[in-house]
Amino acid sequence: MSSVLVVMEQQGGKWHRMSWEALACGVELGKQLGLPVEAAVVGSGVSGLAAEATTKDISKVYAVNHALLEHYTSDAFTSAVEQLTKQTGASFVLFPHTYQVRDFAPKVATRFGRVLVSDVVSVRTSGAVTFVRQLFQGKMNADFQVAGTGPTFASIQAGAFRADSLAAGSAAVSEFAPSIEASIIRVKVDAPFRESSRAVDLTAAELIVSVGRGIKDKDNIHIVQELAAAMGAELAASRPICDAGWLPMERQVGSSGQTVSPKVYMAVGISGAIQHLVGMKGSKAIVAINKDENAPIFEVADYGIIGDLFEVVPALIAEVKKAKNS
Ligand code: FAD
Repeated sequence: MSSVLVVMEQQGGKWHRMSWEALACGVELGKQLGLPVEAAVVGSGVSGLAAEATTKDISKVYAVNHALLEHYTSDAFTSAVEQLTKQTGASFVLFPHTYQVRDFAPKVATRFGRVLVSDVVSVRTSGAVTFVRQLFQGKMNADFQVAGTGPTFASIQAGAFRADSLAAGSAAVSEFAPSIEASIIRVKVDAPFRESSRAVDLTAAELIVSVGRGIKDKDNIHIVQELAAAMGAELAASRPICDAGWLPMERQVGSSGQTVSPKVYMAVGISGAIQHLVGMKGSKAIVAINKDENAPIFEVADYGIIGDLFEVVPALIAEVKKAKNS
């Protein structure tokens, strides 16, 4: 039967938080198209996790169990999801846009002679189903429609749908045992990569001053450092600043950095790409300083200062110091 199937991600028996956001997208799509929404969790011994997903307002959760799915390999996961897609007859197969999904989901799609529409930030269903993706580092949204017949595959970007929009329900669990031969698995699984422990815990900070590429040069970082010191705030950064080694990686905020929710997040010279926004949009108050009035950061900012940070930040430092001394 035609349905929306959401393949959720778990690792080591723990949900990937983006799974719930992908499920929220699936539920919205299902509602708009009048299709039942089903979820699946893939691994070994995942029936307990599948039972957790049944508490959402969807029709069914598949526990896709096999000993060869205990450790992730693209070969085994591709085969399992291919078999499940055929079994369910799903017309839409959605995934969270995680590193793991990027590895195997395009392969699943090609098994059906289809493509994966990746990084989706919203879906429209008036007329043909249209997936929206961001281009040019979030400066432009583009519409994508998939031609031809067969299931449509898409991965959902972090932060694009709200997990807390999922209504409670009671779905049924359905066991699905794919047939997987050890001989199809061409990779050898090593111990998982472990990040070194973080010296800086931005998640606990109440005030954060975060700097982006607008700062232009490593030698200018001291300007925002001074502002952070004057405010008693932690210093954070967008990814390019950390990639360039201007600040340590542990100060990066975003989808591949830390997720923060301070009382005040001040974004200085940061454009507001979705990968950055997902790490800070839960902040209580967002202040953005940017010289481009069309920068996407202003869409989430509570207070916006359109101006040159090299003029605005020194003026702010002076005001903060004045306020402290008065
Ligand atoms: P830019 O996009 O270059 O923006 C600089 C901004 O500064 C512009 O808006 C400009 O108008 C403004 N500016 C320039 N000069 C001045 C001035 N004098 N005064 C005021 N404003 C000025 N990014 C993250 O931040 N965190 C992540 O975790 C992350 N993970 C990613 C994961 C993946 C898989 C990918 C593909 C990308 C990821 N990114 C991440 C990168 C992200 O897509 C953006 O490229 C990045 O966030 C842009 O950083 P930025 O805003 O500092 O730089």
